[in-house]
Amino acid sequence: MPAGSCSSDVGAMEINANRADFPILQREINGHPLTYLDNAATTQKPRSVIQAITRFYEQHNANVHRAVHTLSEEATALYEDARAKVARFIGAPSARCIVFTRGTTEAINLVAQSWARAHLTAGNEIVLSEMEHHSNIVPWQMVARETGAAIRYARVTPRGLLDRKHFSSLLNKNTRLVALTHTSNVLGTVNPLRDMISEAHDLGAVVLVDGAQGVPRAPVDVAALDCEFLAFSGHKMLAPTGIGVLYAKEHILASMEPVQGGGGMITRVEEAGAEWMEPPWRFEAGTPNIAGAAALATAVDYLTAIGMAEVQAWEASLTEYALAALDQAPGITVFGPRDSLIQSGVIAFNADGVHPHDAAQILDEVGVAVRGGHHCCQLLMRRLGVPAVLRASFSVYNDQGDVERLIGGLERVARVFR
Ligand code: PMP
Repeated sequence: MPAGSCSSDVGAMEINANRADFPILQREINGHPLTYLDNAATTQKPRSVIQAITRFYEQHNANVHRAVHTLSEEATALYEDARAKVARFIGAPSARCIVFTRGTTEAINLVAQSWARAHLTAGNEIVLSEMEHHSNIVPWQMVARETGAAIRYARVTPRGLLDRKHFSSLLNKNTRLVALTHTSNVLGTVNPLRDMISEAHDLGAVVLVDGAQGVPRAPVDVAALDCEFLAFSGHKMLAPTGIGVLYAKEHILASMEPVQGGGGMITRVEEAGAEWMEPPWRFEAGTPNIAGAAALATAVDYLTAIGMAEVQAWEASLTEYALAALDQAPGITVFGPRDSLIQSGVIAFNADGVHPHDAAQILDEVGVAVRGGHHCCQLLMRRLGVPAVLRASFSVYNDQGDVERLIGGLERVARVFR
């Protein structure tokens, strides 16, 4: 085991992610070592990713695609190599399927404003689920209002699973689009997407997968899933903020109109109009986040060196360990599947009688960073019957010690409030 790597007694698991690679983990918060368990919101960055940003600005900074000078060629190569690396990471057949965006939210809005606006009319239906993040609800509500399409929501069961029977009952010949999360950002529930996607395809619907939580936590292969679209964010997978990805099947991207016009996306402009470049560049008007893309490629290298199957197994072992510990802790209610086979790295819970914001504040006093709130999932909160929950979420650098400090912090919450 490499020095400083994380290990756990649970199932004799270990992972080749060195905590020392993440400078921020050296920080103390309120006199305590940082226990960072807010990874579903954003992950910390390894030194290699931070250095990739610095290296870009110190060595290669120039605009892409527009000049033949050396720096511009280097910047263009970094940007396009990052696109190819991201394509390989998710099993996409070509870099031409990868559009760089600001994040998951922008990727979903691009599909809503381009594909959905052109394809949906009154009488059509969009199927979502109650566990979707607002980013995978509001863009569809906006396009539904414009087109007259209706939205149906697949229910979530009391165990926190997507109700498969209810989902199937919503699909019909009017269903044009199904948009589902790979992994719930609140409950950690991993949806059985392969079957659900093929069921949607049987009725001729197009499927978008929100991979914001799934892509950082498990191997995701778009060829195997066969989804039309996959959206995800760099900042939840060790990369910087402001860079994200829309994957789309190539023939679908080729049929889509851009939603932003400007430099870098046209082949010709005349007084009366313009001609678009081929995808993906057609969808990347203006100067893109070049340093962000280069740093995303470095984050992909970091995760690939660990192995996404290993990341998934590590988070499963931590989830199992944390669920067992939370079960022993008095006055804690855990939501969600409570099963590491269908739950990935995210746990929602509450300390009975304590508002999640108050609990999160007391945990912060001992350096434990968790989030309390609705987590941009108000439909799910309604289904769970609570206004807010606490959420602990893992990444590659977390270990059993982090779980133990969380449990210690919860004991402190109980002491303060009882
Ligand atoms: N979907 C899910 C499941 C998420 O967890 C998040 C981020 N919390 C988003 C979408 C939105 O991602 P971003 O803010 O990076 O666009």
